[in-house]
Amino acid sequence: MPLHQADRSAGPFDDVYALGTSDRRLSKYRIPDDSADPSSVYNLIRDELLLDGNSRQNLATFCTTWAEPQVRELLDEAFDKNIIDKDEYPQSAEIENRCVHMIADLWHAPRSWTTVGCSTTGSSEAAMLGGLALKWRWRKARQAQGLAADRPNLVCGPVQVCWEKFARYFDVELRQVPLDGDATEMRPQDLKRFCDENTIGVVATLGVTFTGAYEPVAALAAALDQIQRDTGFDIPIHVDGASGGFVAPFIQPELEWDFRIDRVKSINASGHKFGLAPLGVGWIVWRSREDLPEELVFSVDYLGGNMPTFALNFSRPGGEIIAQYYNFLRLGRRGYERIHQSCVDTARWLAAELAKLGPLEILYDGNGGLPCVCYRLTEGVEHGFTLYDLSDRVRIRGWQIASYPLPPNRHDTVVQRILVRHGVSRDLAALLLEEIKRALDHLRDNPVPRSTSGPSFSHN
Ligand SMILES: *Cc1c(COP(=O)(O)O)cnc(C)c1O
Repeated sequence: MPLHQADRSAGPFDDVYALGTSDRRLSKYRIPDDSADPSSVYNLIRDELLLDGNSRQNLATFCTTWAEPQVRELLDEAFDKNIIDKDEYPQSAEIENRCVHMIADLWHAPRSWTTVGCSTTGSSEAAMLGGLALKWRWRKARQAQGLAADRPNLVCGPVQVCWEKFARYFDVELRQVPLDGDATEMRPQDLKRFCDENTIGVVATLGVTFTGAYEPVAALAAALDQIQRDTGFDIPIHVDGASGGFVAPFIQPELEWDFRIDRVKSINASGHKFGLAPLGVGWIVWRSREDLPEELVFSVDYLGGNMPTFALNFSRPGGEIIAQYYNFLRLGRRGYERIHQSCVDTARWLAAELAKLGPLEILYDGNGGLPCVCYRLTEGVEHGFTLYDLSDRVRIRGWQIASYPLPPNRHDTVVQRILVRHGVSRDLAALLLEEIKRALDHLRDNPVPRSTSGPSFSHN
């Protein structure tokens, strides 16, 4: 037998790059007939993943990219726990419940120990559940009065795509308030034109995806109070706090945006964003039991009794929820405050430094909303490059910064947004700043002849 063949059979040598599997490309279209050595398959797949961007340098994402080793351990230990099996894993179910009540308390629910809520895969699923509850509640009220209930609409500002999905999947007209003038959020005075008897609710976003700023929930509620006095329409608010729901309570505690406002009936947030849990968990909480129509709730067996559930998914991993509970206990309110505050400080520092560079005009400087920075190229100047070119240029060193147009009517304004989240240290931000400076110098000296504009990299 030729020597090279002998070497390639598994034996004492056993090098993962010299085993049979590694002299072929990995299969793409068909499950291979034969089994393979686990360590070589593991390494080959891991190597392919080297081609992914480095998540820590991805400043487009709001999601967790750094966690303590204990979080990884808990995730690993819980990999077999299915959160839907309440009867089989009652303590995981108990931990989920504790989280719901802690979050309800964090958001000032009037009787947080009795409020209903649940975990979801993220804010998108939570938005579907929140939207469905609004739709059911509205329809029941309309039917009770003998009125038509076939043309529901939902009013919102520049929402995340999950609300467009909700509207399409569940047959609701989405009335998105266009951005007029300099506005980057929905304004209270806009509501009157968009709300009517068929409005199932208004979605207010705490932490608009495009800029990071908060919509003024209290002022929106006051505008709806006025609409109710004028027309009798009692329109509830759902707050999409995907990011802000786990930021505001810790670093902007005076800001009233949550259940302190009567009109706010439900709130969602992503545990895996500023809740600092690993990817795969979101939350929704209703103000009180009455705000979640009982027709939407199913019962599952739980310790011989019944447990109410409301979800689009069935099987789902329990580890993220357990890790969320770990974070609550491990960090405490003070820990969240310190982490988010240092992110805010870094975001504001970065905004100030970026403003000094000249070509960038800061639209949101990290003050008052999420820890992030949003800017555009200064207007009325021929820069010789676009923000898309800048995104491409900094990507050379691995930095990922999203460039994208604002929603209508400001579609012609292209912005960039840099998220400063847990793990984006001042040092890392300073390295990024250097890279942006270098990129701007390069683009200034080498204008891009024909603009390659177009979303070369966009989070949305
Ligand atoms: C991220 C985000 C969502 C979607 O949340 P997922 O947890 O990614 O499903 C919804 N709304 C807003 C405002 C967001 O920022």
